[in-house]
Amino acid sequence: MDFSLTAEEADLAELCRNFADREIAPRAPAAWERAECPTDLLREMGELGLLGMLVPEGWGGIGMSTIGFVAALEQIGRADQSVAAALQAHVTIGSMPLLLFGTDEQRERWLRPLAEGRVLGAFGLTEPGAGSDTRGIATRAERRDGGWVVNGTKAFISNAGTDMSFGVTVLARTGTGDRGPRFGSFVIEKDTPGFTMGPKVRGIGWKGLDTRELYFDDVWVPDDHLLGDPDLGLGQFLRTLEVGRISIAALSLSLTQAVLDLSLAYAAERRQFGRPISDFQAIQFKLADMATELEAARWLTYRAAWLRDTGQPFLKEAAMAKLKASRLAAAAASEAVQIHGGVGYMLDSPVARFYCDSKVLEIGEGTNEIQHVVIARALGC
Ligand SMILES: Cc1cc2nc3c(=O)[nH]c(=O)nc-3n(C[C@H](O)[C@H](O)[C@H](O)COP(=O)(O)OP(=O)(O)OC[C@H]3O[C@@H](n4cnc5c(N)ncnc54)[C@H](O)[C@@H]3O)c2cc1C
Repeated sequence: MDFSLTAEEADLAELCRNFADREIAPRAPAAWERAECPTDLLREMGELGLLGMLVPEGWGGIGMSTIGFVAALEQIGRADQSVAAALQAHVTIGSMPLLLFGTDEQRERWLRPLAEGRVLGAFGLTEPGAGSDTRGIATRAERRDGGWVVNGTKAFISNAGTDMSFGVTVLARTGTGDRGPRFGSFVIEKDTPGFTMGPKVRGIGWKGLDTRELYFDDVWVPDDHLLGDPDLGLGQFLRTLEVGRISIAALSLSLTQAVLDLSLAYAAERRQFGRPISDFQAIQFKLADMATELEAARWLTYRAAWLRDTGQPFLKEAAMAKLKASRLAAAAASEAVQIHGGVGYMLDSPVARFYCDSKVLEIGEGTNEIQHVVIARALGC
């Protein structure tokens, strides 16, 4: 087994490293303060092909491997987690439903502009009454006048409300069968009558990510806005989330690498009791643990990506990678603040920003409790 990057993957990672260092990192503190989604950066990333990383060239993407995508996210996330979060949501849950389940007409109409980076994609699963329990979704789609009428509310939806957003793919109840409710996926464009949204919500981290409630009040869409089978939408959405978990794991790796680098530099420079704090074994062991755990989480993540790239099942491995890497990111960010002492506690220190960004990694795209459920089921429980 060899996870070393191909020349193409290494070139992409290098491009992302340079872009992150030159364009993203210098703006990260101000972007955090203003809590705005930097769509101008996302547009530039679109011009570099980054918004179509997992889409084949035939549909406007760059047809990158999942391993290359992880390597790219590792570089972007070191500079700004919000930008990396918007990028990964667009590339995975924002675009994959169209690639995997859309017709050629739907791909031409909606996937191509997403992959070419002209618009931003969003995915609407969560509702005020249904988060982990996806079967509890109450948004309904009913057949009417040769199309569908959608009614309901979605909560915490990222990328739907920016000046670059085109709309959202939502999951809605289409009926009830012998085995319970059935769901379909619908593409709903931004200016469709009856589709409105609330203000951007304020989280403790991912401050630049545009996340909102979406409201659907008698929203009519024609039949060609339905993606795939009107009764199999839930399975489609859950399949889309599998790759989303690999990308959250990649963000977690990037965050851990960032706080490790910051902590190494600070520990070498900060002097107490007449010597650098990196001379103290207590600090050295924290750094050694972080580096060791990062290596372990990195290989879990790259292996899940490799399984996907080689056409093998990766549900359990993606859940394991997300569980391990996000837990590590939250723990490492906390240790990094500890290593920085009072300086690390101050909101204008980069390590404090990463600390605030780390928590959501254990919640988004399936909480870590749900990752346990997925893994336990795969073990036969
Ligand atoms: C910043 C941000 C961005 C987001 N972006 C999107 C997006 O773009 N699209 C989208 O659809 N959603 C998005 N979400 C929603 C996210 O996926 C959900 O928050 C997440 O799935 C958890 O759902 P919930 O918040 O309703 O928590 P709940 O499901 O209410 O869970 C509450 C607690 O109960 C636990 N729990 C629930 N069920 C079980 C169980 N069976 N066993 C053990 N423990 C359980 C959970 O693990 C958690 O600890 C986003 C969320 C955030 C915070």
